Amino acid sequence: MGNSACIKAIISIFILNTCTVSANGLPDPDPVRMKADLEYLCSPDLAGRGTGTPGADKAAAYVAEKMQETGLSPIVAGGFGGVTPYHYPWRDAGWFRPSGPGHALAKPGGLRSGEASDVVGVLPGTDPALAGEYVFVTAHFDHLGTVRGTRYPGADDNASGTAGLLEVMRLLRESGPRRSIAFLGVSGEEEGLLGSEAFLAGKAVPIAAVKADINMDMIGRGRPGELHVMPARRKGCVTTLTRDARALAAAQGVSLSAGIEGYWRDSDHYSFARRSVPAICFNTGLHEDYHRPTDTPDKISYAGLSRVVRIVRDLALKTANAAEDPEVLPEVTWQAWAWGPYRTPSLELDEGESQAEEKNPGPDKERANVEFSM
Ligand SMILES: [Zn+2]
Repeated sequence: MGNSACIKAIISIFILNTCTVSANGLPDPDPVRMKADLEYLCSPDLAGRGTGTPGADKAAAYVAEKMQETGLSPIVAGGFGGVTPYHYPWRDAGWFRPSGPGHALAKPGGLRSGEASDVVGVLPGTDPALAGEYVFVTAHFDHLGTVRGTRYPGADDNASGTAGLLEVMRLLRESGPRRSIAFLGVSGEEEGLLGSEAFLAGKAVPIAAVKADINMDMIGRGRPGELHVMPARRKGCVTTLTRDARALAAAQGVSLSAGIEGYWRDSDHYSFARRSVPAICFNTGLHEDYHRPTDTPDKISYAGLSRVVRIVRDLALKTANAAEDPEVLPEVTWQAWAWGPYRTPSLELDEGESQAEEKNPGPDKERANVEFSM
């Protein structure tokens, strides 16, 4: 054995010892790497990642740096800056005003406006006939910022999804998908889906070429045996993505839950869905720290986060390689589905937040009537 062969053997033993591989041959998530990403995003330096603040810009720069390290390509056709953050003008009264707890809290000074940034990077498709089509994987990296001196770290919401986004991108980098996979880190979500709206309205990718969106929002709590997906029972919205997610989860012994359907309009997948792009969102359930300063990194389950990342990794690749585009399923198909356990508690709003919500009706007001009723 020559010297270089010997060195190669040593390197391959080292690699085998340090990274595990799933049954389908794709690398497994690395909890240590995800923890480093999440803890940086929650650090005091980023000050809660409020849209339009230097902290959110630092988060965008971090996501861009990781995309560049992974070797993703820019989207150039629409003129956005690719894997460097691209900027859009914003006001915190978007196309709808969110009414959930914490939103009013985040705006003690009333309307703010300025520039905000999303980040997008592309794993190019390898099939010449399909490379012009995109499967999106999305997560918002913004949160509520620092309010009256109190920092909202947003570890679950949504540093967890952002860490998941970065990890899925690393796990798929060698996968050679037939369609292109676009990884989009979004800002302005807490202000009313502003970043995903700005991205899609900007037509960096023509909407006809956007075949799916797989979104992650709050995936870090990982109660054993509980992982939510939406849409689960929404007429005209349940697609083959939900069907495939159920099968891929089942292959890992996970039975998906359907208890967060009332939040359908409350994260970035909705910007895609309302443009008739098949969309799906993963979430590990609401909790008492939602939109509170107590949403901290020490409460994150990396085993739970890894479980979601494996499913999103497999779903993104399956969708990118499928012969057919995702499509809406007939009601009769999904009405027959059984769902996994549902233990998410109801949210109890602070008095001030309840009042703010009363004064603040919006299109998502319906959720007050439907949330947690399933
Ligand atoms: Zn969120």
